[in-house]
Amino acid sequence: MVYRRGTDEVRALDALDLAVPRGQFLCVMGPSGSGKSSLMHILAALQTPTSGSVRVGGREIHRMTEREATLFRRRNVGIVFQFFNLIPTLNIERNIGLALRADGIAPDLIREKLKPLAQELGIENRIDHYPSELSGGEMQRVAIARALIAEPAIVLADEPTGNLDSASGDEVLGRLRDLCDRRAATIILMTHDANAVSYADRVVRLRDGRVDRDTPGGAAGVP
Ligand code: ADP
Repeated sequence: MVYRRGTDEVRALDALDLAVPRGQFLCVMGPSGSGKSSLMHILAALQTPTSGSVRVGGREIHRMTEREATLFRRRNVGIVFQFFNLIPTLNIERNIGLALRADGIAPDLIREKLKPLAQELGIENRIDHYPSELSGGEMQRVAIARALIAEPAIVLADEPTGNLDSASGDEVLGRLRDLCDRRAATIILMTHDANAVSYADRVVRLRDGRVDRDTPGGAAGVP
């Protein structure tokens, strides 16, 4: 991935070669400017790489038109952001079901999908509330439910614990781990949070747009 800045070229990702098996919980770490956001945008088909190829579930997303990319994203990618991005005027149930409603899925069916997911995330008694009534950790778990409800092939999380205290951060990471195990969700977590290492299956450290280290996560990955 090359960005142009005036006459300068910035190689944000350089000969990056990464294969993530389905169901893996991958943690991508690296200093600011190492390429994490670029990688995330490329995986979400929000950006097209300058060269190279990107395949998700056998589909070549780097070749997609804008319209195909939008559909691909809606059906296959769940995104969790640092700042939750919940809609304040909608209750939690509506926030979680927003994309499915937009896709014309019946409210009853959405509620059916929502129930077990809310339970897994420990927010089942919050679904009638509004975002302002929730703690940061709860809001992030709602954002995770929203990302997962359509059962996407991959879940991309950009610093999901960046705005949380460490206890809420651990709760969020634990729930992500759980979802990965129970639902065989593929989770790619971009983070600075060293705590995340023990929850992940694998940790890739980027440096200057390249893989600097690729190591197992879990207890083995904790120094
Ligand atoms: P990280 O998320 O790890 O901080 P980024 O992917 O944001 O890394 O950035 C990687 C490199 O690409 C950095 O040198 C950054 O300054 C540069 N970069 C990112 N986005 C742009 C852009 N839109 N235009 C020019 N340079 C960019």
